[in-house]
Amino acid sequence: MGIDLGSAALVAPLVERAPTITTLCSHSSLQIFHGARTEGFRSLGVCTGAPPRFYDAFPLGRPDQFLSVPTIPEIRSHTDELNRATALLVPHGSFVEYLGADAFQKLPVPVFGNRAVIGWEADREKERVWLESAGVRMPERYASASEVDGPVIVKYYGAKGGKGFFLAKNRKALEGFKPTGPHVIQEYVLGTRYYVHFFYSPISDRGYRVGRGSLELLGMDRRDEANIDEHYKLGAQEQLLNAGIRPTFVVTGNVPVVLRESLLPQVFDVGARIVERSIELFGGMVGPFCVEGIMTEDLVFKVFEISTRIVAGTNLFVSGSSYSDLVRPDLSMGRRIALEVKEARAAGRLREVVS
Ligand code: ATP
Repeated sequence: MGIDLGSAALVAPLVERAPTITTLCSHSSLQIFHGARTEGFRSLGVCTGAPPRFYDAFPLGRPDQFLSVPTIPEIRSHTDELNRATALLVPHGSFVEYLGADAFQKLPVPVFGNRAVIGWEADREKERVWLESAGVRMPERYASASEVDGPVIVKYYGAKGGKGFFLAKNRKALEGFKPTGPHVIQEYVLGTRYYVHFFYSPISDRGYRVGRGSLELLGMDRRDEANIDEHYKLGAQEQLLNAGIRPTFVVTGNVPVVLRESLLPQVFDVGARIVERSIELFGGMVGPFCVEGIMTEDLVFKVFEISTRIVAGTNLFVSGSSYSDLVRPDLSMGRRIALEVKEARAAGRLREVVS
């Protein structure tokens, strides 16, 4: 048997009655609700105010019921209602962001996956310790501007979408740079970005074995990032700045990508290392996660960030991707979550995937 994440008391109601797959009405909720419906679960959407109208346009992605709260943090006073509905919360980026990582971790409602991972992802320092000790290649980090020996990206903590990130071609270009808050100076990696959508199942005994379970690759995307992605049209950053435009990396959309097949072993190795180390550090990451990295011209994949839950880039693949089609037809990440819950419940192993 594997590692129990959730207590018997927390999980017991979901053993007696089928869970209601629950998430915040945003981000990747359509495919989460669609996946729940496909696997025969009821679903519940948490929203503020009236249920969002856009669900009317997507009947297969509409939750069966809504819970309206005045503000997202006020979910904390509705936990009895959620538990009465046997809610199983599925974290996504907006859900964790709007509620706060700390509050999310403390909610007395069952959560899909290991809620301990939220604390490791929310803290950039802890995330770096995790990835580096797993042997994952990351961009260099410079303790001060005087150490810089190439192009750098200056990142502010909690920048959200890379707002205010500063790029410098070299040490000279960094002279006179006045940081406006806590930040890190990181090697600017030249290459091509890939956002790799993995799913780790601790209960599967098929496929690419990692730990006691298996690692699946379900898709890959690249983010469209305004206004930096268009910046080549205007020329170099100086020209952007001269035009009074601060480059940002605010995500506006996603495009599907595939990796050269010969590079798949490398990204699987990165995914496996991240999972194996997570098992040692905090009992393991369960379910969806995204490895965000840059493939250099030397074909080295340098990871600048991981997201330890479903990412919005998976919205591209509601009916499958070039990768998930080779795992199972019509497999979205949302459906994969529901499937994991269904299989864990049938095998009496819910505590390994719910915390
Ligand atoms: P979010 O939380 O929205 O994912 P963030 O504020 O955590 O963003 P990152 O994800 O670290 O910021 O970076 C945002 C973008 O900046 C990346 O998607 C990528 O385009 C670019 N970027 C980040 N780190 C590097 C790097 N070391 N070299 C080159 N580009 C980078």
